[in-house]
Amino acid sequence: MKVGVLALQGDVREHVSALAACGISPIEVKRPEELSEVDALVLPGGESTTISQLCEIFGLFEPIKARISGGMPTYGSCAGMILLADEILDAKEGQKTFGGLDITVRRNAFGRQVDSFETDIDFADGSDELIRAVFIRAPWVEKTGSEIQVLAAVDAHPVAVRSQTLLATSFHPELTGDHRIHRYFIEQVAKPALEKVK
Ligand code: GLN
Repeated sequence: MKVGVLALQGDVREHVSALAACGISPIEVKRPEELSEVDALVLPGGESTTISQLCEIFGLFEPIKARISGGMPTYGSCAGMILLADEILDAKEGQKTFGGLDITVRRNAFGRQVDSFETDIDFADGSDELIRAVFIRAPWVEKTGSEIQVLAAVDAHPVAVRSQTLLATSFHPELTGDHRIHRYFIEQVAKPALEKVK
């Protein structure tokens, strides 16, 4: 499976290392030609407005949006979650997302930079072990469509959600050295989705 990491802004290197630890040699996606090589994509943490603007400049916005709506398995962490959401609250004026996930997210919901925090969460991948989750100016999910599965929550706010082909977390598993979420994306989201289209 060829997995890309959108590499225009954000914590690209950390996602590349996390995927490498799962046995994947990721492709850094900066141009449409690189996008067309990949079967699945990771949208990093960073700044969602900057990432979407850079995508427009590099001619990647519409191609990524089309691939996502065409069923390309995609995982977004933090800013990546915002980019996958169909609707954003507290968006910057004119802010656009790729969409695809039937969720409404609130940007910076947990507070500003100084309010960044870490906590252990229960992630519904079948393991009893908690996952260390790092939240940095993180969004939370305020509304989920009927097809959305909530995989983790903090104080009743969903912070990890999935659909058939898309996975999103408010937090940054790429920063902790625990690769369970990346492995879940590869094994439980991307592989089954790609098997289906074969
Ligand atoms: N608050 C950022 C945004 O709106 C996301 C922060 C992050 O990715 N750590 O894009």
